[in-house]
Amino acid sequence: MATNWAGNHTYRATELHAPSTLDRVREIVATAPRIRVLGSRHSFSDIADSAELLSLERLPPAVVVDRAAMTVACAGAVRYGELAVELDREGLALANLASLPHIAVAGAVSTATHGSGDGNGNLATAVAALEIVTSDGSIVTAARGDPDFAGLVVGLGATGAVTRITLDVEPAYQVRQRVFEGLRWVDLFDHFDAISASGYSVSVFTRWGDVVDQVWVKERVAEGSDASTRPDSGAGGEGLFSAVAATENRHPILGIDPVNCTPQLGVAGSPAERLPHFRMGFTPSSGAELQSEYLVPRRYGTAPIEAVRRLSATIQPLIQVSEIRTVAADALWMSPQYGQDTIAIHFTWNPELAAVERALAEIERVLAPFEARPHWGKLFLAEARAIGPLYERLRDFSALLDRLDSRGAFRNDWLSTRVLGVPE
Ligand SMILES: Cc1cc2nc3c(=O)[nH]c(=O)nc-3n(C[C@H](O)[C@H](O)[C@H](O)COP(=O)(O)OP(=O)(O)OC[C@H]3O[C@@H](n4cnc5c(N)ncnc54)[C@H](O)[C@@H]3O)c2cc1C
Repeated sequence: MATNWAGNHTYRATELHAPSTLDRVREIVATAPRIRVLGSRHSFSDIADSAELLSLERLPPAVVVDRAAMTVACAGAVRYGELAVELDREGLALANLASLPHIAVAGAVSTATHGSGDGNGNLATAVAALEIVTSDGSIVTAARGDPDFAGLVVGLGATGAVTRITLDVEPAYQVRQRVFEGLRWVDLFDHFDAISASGYSVSVFTRWGDVVDQVWVKERVAEGSDASTRPDSGAGGEGLFSAVAATENRHPILGIDPVNCTPQLGVAGSPAERLPHFRMGFTPSSGAELQSEYLVPRRYGTAPIEAVRRLSATIQPLIQVSEIRTVAADALWMSPQYGQDTIAIHFTWNPELAAVERALAEIERVLAPFEARPHWGKLFLAEARAIGPLYERLRDFSALLDRLDSRGAFRNDWLSTRVLGVPE
């Protein structure tokens, strides 16, 4: 059986189904004792594993734009990069994207994958409707505002097979990004709110050294302004506090050729080629890596970042890069942003699992007082007894799963250990 994208998990499943029709999906799901949908395999744990796996990649993408509703519907396995191209052709765009365009829409939404931006919710907040094949083979549809919809969207792969998904879209717009280098830590801590508000989507990259390495500022080009000119506002002309504007393209990991990165230097372009850091046809990030991320409530200010920085001696030997982003509050039950704006502290690690786990134990210890919630799709150590109390709608989610999947076909070890806290 195949491995996940990072190669750190070999799926234990003994069967991989790849049906090409919805009816066949229903038959497979209804008869499998234990099954999970495999998305684009970009998670770093066994979250997607089960006795049997179901790939939906052979279902027709069937991208359908509804201009009156300003939505696009597509198959769950469609990747953001493919969808963005179709939307571009229609003069439309999504409000936000993650750091890479290679991930499947349903897989990303199921784990509350996010980009950045003080005013931007995670990618699941763009979901307007879902079609799910539940474990008895029936088709459940739900739209925003329906009962249980807020529990179904960030479903952690446990609600069923998400066969179609409808997302909000908006008229096409342009984005330009610039990179600022060498920010002093004191400026990050003293001016965090100004820095995170300096663009539509802002990412801070650091290796926890003497200075913060880079700040990537992505600005939406104001309607009617000349997209061909360099920006002169927002991110502050030639500098951002103590950071200076880069004069050539950069990779988030210093020293790596930026050839696989989206264009910078203030050159305007479509959001699909600016909001992700990495370009579609290329390997995102470094490729040989593990990832972890913790979402902390914004009300704690920069104290959680300062707490992590005090662990720099532990982190530095293992880190390729960390990324700090902001994600706006939402009302989705299993979203780390449920009811609260958050700061996301991400780690791209060298692929040294044992040492990374030792570092994670320390990071989770210092972030626990800040009610840190781990990214569902990345590596973490915390188990249900620590995570459960952080999710006030967990009981409702658990009851929803009991109703939709009473025979537990979509339960797996990961869900039991990390979320529900009941033995498999
Ligand atoms: C290089 C890299 C960069 C990343 N960048 C970001 C980032 O910028 N922001 C961020 O938040 N995360 C990021 N991630 C994490 C990633 O977005 C999540 O792990 C996401 O879940 C990946 O989606 P997938 O389809 O590959 O998931 P998989 O690992 O295949 O599956 C994840 C979960 O979704 C479920 N699932 C998948 N498809 C379906 C479906 N159709 N129906 C029901 N359940 C389904 C699976 O069963 C599983 O539970 C990154 C990961 C990598 C490898």
